Amino acid sequence: MIADPFVQLRLLDLQAVDTALAQLAHRRRNLPELATIVDCEQRAAGVRARLVDAETSLADLAAEQRRLEADVETVRLRAEKDQRRMAAAGVPAKEITGLQHEVTSLARRQGVLEDELLELMENRETAEAQVGQLQSELQAILAERAAAEAARDEVFGEIDDALGKRRAERDRLAGTLPADLLALYDKVREASGGVGAAMLRQRRCEGCRLELSGSELADVRAAKPENVVRCDNCRRILVRTHESGL
Ligand SMILES: [Zn+2]
Repeated sequence: MIADPFVQLRLLDLQAVDTALAQLAHRRRNLPELATIVDCEQRAAGVRARLVDAETSLADLAAEQRRLEADVETVRLRAEKDQRRMAAAGVPAKEITGLQHEVTSLARRQGVLEDELLELMENRETAEAQVGQLQSELQAILAERAAAEAARDEVFGEIDDALGKRRAERDRLAGTLPADLLALYDKVREASGGVGAAMLRQRRCEGCRLELSGSELADVRAAKPENVVRCDNCRRILVRTHESGL
């Protein structure tokens, strides 16, 4: 392939822009904030699951409390009714004895129910505290995620601005290159880890960092300035400058 030596030099400018573009894209993909956001989402999912469990337990305890309170009320009303009956005039002695037994038994039952109620209310307090703790834990994680998202968006903005400028620069530079040279450069660049053109500096290919052997050097020396030469080792386009040591 033939290309004006000055045009070949422009490949190095294009390469510098492409390298900057690749670095910006790499930085965009690997922002630490992205890992933080994923981590926050995983932690939030874990806390949400525990929160659902804790809220279910709390609802169960509340239902159990209402049931016990209703039981206590039933027992209390029954005892009141018995007391009123015992206080009434003309109740037979045998019935009074029966009522006394029942009132004693109801009092015992009420005591048992109230003990259960007390224990249940303690459990409910514990469950409420747990729900509260999980809610604050979730809020903290969501706040951390929101901060990471804001930081990510800010950096994305900066990177996207820089990408826009670099892409415009690339388009401008690419537009000055002959189509066949640009196509070769792009093909080699894609096949060679993003580097399509490398400077030959002090007899060394800056693409693969290898020094050219004697015969390779002789070939490059023999090539005309407008010949497009490639590194024998990495196949990248070798751009010759006054620093090439030829
Ligand atoms: Zn090379």
